[in-house]
Amino acid sequence: MDEADIASNYQQREMDTLLSHHQKKQTLTVQDSADCCEECGFDIPSERQVAVPGCSLCIQCAIRLEQTS
Ligand SMILES: [Zn+2]
Repeated sequence: MDEADIASNYQQREMDTLLSHHQKKQTLTVQDSADCCEECGFDIPSERQVAVPGCSLCIQCAIRLEQTS
């Protein structure tokens, strides 16, 4: 195996990693959403669980963390 092969193998791995991350994101469903907020522990409204599959924060905490980060 020469250097070019190693480089293309590496790129292929990078692509696979990116792809699997992307697919993981796409396959998140309402079931992946948390019932309660990880930050404050309040219930996350089902509308938000549906709107943001895989969410783990209530809208207030999501906004707050976005603003402070
Ligand atoms: Zn919260």
